[in-house]
Amino acid sequence: MTTISGDRCLDHEEPLIFEIGRDGKCGVDFPQVTVGDTHLAGLRRKGKIGLPGLSEPEVVRHYVRLSRMNYAIDAGLYPLGSCTMKHNPRLNEKLARLPGFADLHPLSPMSAAQGALALMRELAHWLTTLTGMPAVTLTPKAGAHGELCGILTIRAAIEARGEKRTRVLIPESAHGTNPASAAFAGFTVDEIKATPEGRVDLDSLKSKLGPDVAAFMLTNPNTCGLFERDICEIARLVHAAGAYFYCDGANFNAIAGRVKPGDLGVDAMHINLHKTFSTPHGGGGPGAGPVVLSARLAPFAPLPLLVLEKDSIRLIETKTDAPEGAKPFGRMAAFHGQTGMFVRALSYMLSHGGDGIRQASEDAVLSANYVLASLKDVMSAPFAGPCMHEALFDDTWLHNTGVTTLDFAKAMIDEGYHPMTMYFPLVVHGAMLIEPTESESKESLDRFIHVLHTMAEEVKAGKTARFDGAPHLAPRRRLDETAASRKPVLKWKAPDLKQAAE
Ligand SMILES: *Cc1c(COP(=O)(O)O)cnc(C)c1O
Repeated sequence: MTTISGDRCLDHEEPLIFEIGRDGKCGVDFPQVTVGDTHLAGLRRKGKIGLPGLSEPEVVRHYVRLSRMNYAIDAGLYPLGSCTMKHNPRLNEKLARLPGFADLHPLSPMSAAQGALALMRELAHWLTTLTGMPAVTLTPKAGAHGELCGILTIRAAIEARGEKRTRVLIPESAHGTNPASAAFAGFTVDEIKATPEGRVDLDSLKSKLGPDVAAFMLTNPNTCGLFERDICEIARLVHAAGAYFYCDGANFNAIAGRVKPGDLGVDAMHINLHKTFSTPHGGGGPGAGPVVLSARLAPFAPLPLLVLEKDSIRLIETKTDAPEGAKPFGRMAAFHGQTGMFVRALSYMLSHGGDGIRQASEDAVLSANYVLASLKDVMSAPFAGPCMHEALFDDTWLHNTGVTTLDFAKAMIDEGYHPMTMYFPLVVHGAMLIEPTESESKESLDRFIHVLHTMAEEVKAGKTARFDGAPHLAPRRRLDETAASRKPVLKWKAPDLKQAAE
């Protein structure tokens, strides 16, 4: 149905700002400038710079309308697996906006930044305590950046031992960033098989370990939402081969307060502050991926180093200033990391306390198991038994229905839900990975389960029209995702129509 405005109730159309802007219009009143040409030294503008002209209310409406075409955790349950889209407490936002943090310039003298540095020390203390690891580097700006940092630390430690190790072992269920980080650091990647129950195959690991293996990278809980029960034996095998044990801790929220990775023999692990410890994320940032390190790797942590001197805290910025025994491999970022995320994460930790963090992990696991148990009768779960923080389904139940994982997930949009993670992990056919997090009330979970259960029943009853080409009620229909990534349109061009009218 088309309407006069192109809108359908609140499901509106919104052109680009360049298409609604007009020449000569301006939302701000600038004072008349009386500087003569001689003062401008030939810098006077020669032509139009092509900025859209709009009044202030037009600008406000444009961005508010655009924001309403978006989905956010503040708009509804956001079940994207492995992404931990949890509630971001407003208290964190309030603290991050304190001018002492928000207005602090990264080049401020250290004497003027003692509060921010003390906050970083406090955050480091929480991270090392929660993980049972002796050291942490805070600079990495995302999970993948943390992986690279951890792998470069391992590379430095191996070089310091005078060894040459070229391979990194990674289970086939791993997040794509793991092999990417290892390859980026110059290692070749060797895949470790999964057992039929979705965990690391110890025989496959044993057969691949050798004197040329630098590290084994494991996600725990793994991307099938399962805890790797053999993790202590895995650590023992990896260490016996002279390699380091890297753990992808992006999803620490499933075990924080319950398990200390340091007790499991982990040598390096990044923690996504933007997942486990809230802080808004998605859309590419910002994030923070601190890396905790074992005593064997700690000396190789990158610059800057945060040290407590007599009565002040200092960031050590160069190798020559590094304390005795420290052999930093280099640095990961120009400055010290994402202060805004540090404030939010510490605010989350302090307001929850250790017991509250454990409770959050337990509730996240409980929510996921509630979803798994409630949908198991209509959808198919590839692995038996309870899950950790995410519920995984495959597409066996869709066979011969004419409906695919993609159709089912896209139809969720018509019901006002963001789709779950699809087709990941790769080891599960047509995977649907649901991570409800601890944010949801039982009523909210029940509503979500009711919608998915009813949709699944419709599929089974052959009522599949709504899945064909879904979503039908969103501002856009099914997009061509392949063309979007292969032939991205990154530059706006004025439509011919508008030019013709002028
Ligand atoms: C999110 C995630 C990452 C990557 O984190 P980014 O902050 O997006 O770079 C890595 N591994 C796992 C298991 C993840 O869930």
